[in-house]
Amino acid sequence: MSKPRALIVGMGIGGLATAMRLHEIGWEPVLVERAPGRRPAGYFIGLFETGRATAERMGVLNAIGNRTDPAAVTYDIDRAGSRRPSMGYGDLPGEPHLMLRGDVEAALYDRVVDKTEIRYGTSPVAIDEHSDGADVTLRTTLGENTTETTERFELVVGADGLRSTVRRLVFGPDSEYLRPFHHIIGAAPLKEPVPGFRHNDGLVLAESGRSAWVFPFRDHHPTVLFNYRTDDEDGQFRRPPIESLRRAFGPEPAGLVMESLLTQFEEADDYLFDSVHQVEMPTWHTDRVVLLGDSAWCLTLYSGMGVSSGLSGADFLGTTLQRNPDNLPRALREYDQRLRPFIANQQHLGRTEGLTMFVPQSRRDIALRGLIQKLTSNPVGKRAMKTLVAGKFKAKSIDIAAP
Ligand SMILES: Cc1cc2nc3c(=O)[nH]c(=O)nc-3n(C[C@H](O)[C@H](O)[C@H](O)COP(=O)(O)OP(=O)(O)OC[C@H]3O[C@@H](n4cnc5c(N)ncnc54)[C@H](O)[C@@H]3O)c2cc1C
Repeated sequence: MSKPRALIVGMGIGGLATAMRLHEIGWEPVLVERAPGRRPAGYFIGLFETGRATAERMGVLNAIGNRTDPAAVTYDIDRAGSRRPSMGYGDLPGEPHLMLRGDVEAALYDRVVDKTEIRYGTSPVAIDEHSDGADVTLRTTLGENTTETTERFELVVGADGLRSTVRRLVFGPDSEYLRPFHHIIGAAPLKEPVPGFRHNDGLVLAESGRSAWVFPFRDHHPTVLFNYRTDDEDGQFRRPPIESLRRAFGPEPAGLVMESLLTQFEEADDYLFDSVHQVEMPTWHTDRVVLLGDSAWCLTLYSGMGVSSGLSGADFLGTTLQRNPDNLPRALREYDQRLRPFIANQQHLGRTEGLTMFVPQSRRDIALRGLIQKLTSNPVGKRAMKTLVAGKFKAKSIDIAAP
């Protein structure tokens, strides 16, 4: 009997994990990626237990690795040059493993590449669902050449990120589903040391409505993350990213550290500059099409769970497809029902505590941050604080995809 074919749109972490899982349960995945090739290492991420449990089940946890530096110290700093030891991302309850997005991508890619057909430069332009399959028109542009084919698949998985084409073609325009945060982020690797700090020092410069974070690693140069609030998101993209960042972090003098971070962002070969949105949908599937990862629920970086939920989503999708070999609609319904309460909770945390942890929204948040810094400036205080806030992080350790 021939294997059921699934089209997976998007070769991010969600798409790669889905390809791996579907292959495991006897499907034939076809992976299409709009970009002409793989994406480089990229920005900092923290992998919580939810994602680690799936990665372990899928046999990729070791390959993903862990770049947490046990000797790293994180400082709260200000522009005038003061520094106070504080809590770093790796000190959070649940002990996220710190790494680069590319670490997870590479581990999955290595497991998928010889088992899956991958087509670069390819994007769906039409999806037509029938009771016995989905006919998808795929457009491939490589160099000057553009070709189109229409092929039938049993299942289409939209893992094509925040501004998903599959979502637009099947469920409707972005405006119906994107919930803007009115925040912009900029992220880049730091190849030069930050003046006055060691290569494995973490930094947080938090002001009302804006912040800069430096995330250190054991065996890789650190990355910087800028965040700022704005009422004019579109305006931020009408000029080069560095100009928008300089305006957002002005007019006060940058100071030595901020100036180094901004200059390094400007000179980086590989950077990310984007607005922040969650995706909210009443359903993530039809009878033949299902969304996964950022295209379905984008939790944003403020939840710290985008990678974990993408991995778990792919894992559980495989489980429910395996359980319902002759009933695709039921499989997709089960997938939606199991993940929805978990995702809703993570979205809520991302909009509330998650956002204010990364970007203080008011003077009150700044004062609270100062207080937390004082309480956690020594190991005993750090442990006490971790216990105090552990409840808020408990859900990040749930193995939501457990069979
Ligand atoms: C700065 C930053 C920090 C973060 N920190 C964390 C963290 O600490 N912990 C965590 O778990 N998560 C974190 N996240 C979130 C996490 O990175 C994402 O949620 C996750 O990588 C999303 O994966 P995805 O596969 O769903 O989407 P994406 O990574 O967006 O992949 C989508 C893919 O689809 C492709 N594509 C798009 N359109 C098409 C099309 N029409 N046809 C074909 N292909 C298409 C894209 O090129 C891309 O390769 C962070 C995100 C950012 C930006």
